[in-house]
Amino acid sequence: MLHLDDNQFNRRRERNQTKLKLWRHAGLMLTYQCSAACRFCYYYCSPQADGLMSVQTAIDAWQGLVRIASEDAKVHITGGEPFLYFERLIGILQEARRLGLTPVDVIETNGSWAEDENDIVEKLRQIDSLGLNRLKISWDAFHEEFIDIQSVRRLVSVARNILGDNRVLVRWEKHLDSPTGIRQKSEPQRKNILQEAMASDSCRLTGRAADALAELSQQYPCEKFHEKSCRNALLSSKGVHIDPNGEVFNGQCSGMIVGNVRQTPLDELWKAFEPDKTNFWQILYNKGPAGFLENAAAEGYACREKYASKCHLCTDIRRFFFDKGLFSQIIGPNVCYGINRNFASEGILGEKQ
Ligand code: SF4
Ligand code: SF4
Repeated sequence: MLHLDDNQFNRRRERNQTKLKLWRHAGLMLTYQCSAACRFCYYYCSPQADGLMSVQTAIDAWQGLVRIASEDAKVHITGGEPFLYFERLIGILQEARRLGLTPVDVIETNGSWAEDENDIVEKLRQIDSLGLNRLKISWDAFHEEFIDIQSVRRLVSVARNILGDNRVLVRWEKHLDSPTGIRQKSEPQRKNILQEAMASDSCRLTGRAADALAELSQQYPCEKFHEKSCRNALLSSKGVHIDPNGEVFNGQCSGMIVGNVRQTPLDELWKAFEPDKTNFWQILYNKGPAGFLENAAAEGYACREKYASKCHLCTDIRRFFFDKGLFSQIIGPNVCYGINRNFASEGILGEKQ
């Protein structure tokens, strides 16, 4: 297990100053492909998006997390929709078990695949036998736009029989009991429903969420976000998400690459991460996304009159930089900006195992 002072930034900090927390959680994004295309997706997952994490990339990330956090390491497998690639999911869990890694804490699913009870039973028994702790089933008005509620109810019921109540989380159960019927509504009605959903559950406006939901949110002049640093988000996330190609995102800050586990082990990335030093991170660390405004304006960025949140401003400026090819080592990958890159044709699809 690493110690806080194994990180270069932390070593420069005084005792009373906030330090970069150890990464104890890793969300392995098996694929960007998804049976849904929710408006609040932090990425741009959809049926057209692709990418498939190889067993090797998953294990490299998993082992790196264990080197950082030892038995506190918590891996969850997510997507996209991980059950679209069930065989690969099983391959990763088998290899993790063979190597004696910490059991997988959570697998997240939207439940769209759960059409046949026998199939559900078989799949859940398999992942249960490979050490799954909890199954997390996503359900709210955003998912309801794309997913059949009967599949989700079927999955919840079968999963509770097999895994027990305590090991099945539904986010959010209350919406399963009283669905909104959003699929039968007109677009203006849908927007009202989604506005209500956003009011009750907070939502980070990055990825597709920034493009699809900012207009439904209350908006504020840009000045409101001046000098709102991202220090806390960068230092205190306690975990990372790792995309199918091994790109590492700090916490839920999608579309900003800290490094790649195919090139640098995760523990080495943590040790070397100095958010107050590198040009791009330094600006977020000290000033938040508004710190980019002057340089972005010089490059031709036209400031919007209003933004829904700091993360909306961040995503909007990053998209501008992305289109210009600026900070290209950090701002990416394409799929986080709504461009469906074909991993297979670039020869970077995870190897078959
Ligand atoms: S939020 Fe989840 S279910 Fe919805 S598109 Fe994104 S990955 Fe798929
Ligand atoms: S403004 Fe950007 S860096 Fe800061 S928390 Fe939001 S997405 Fe992350």
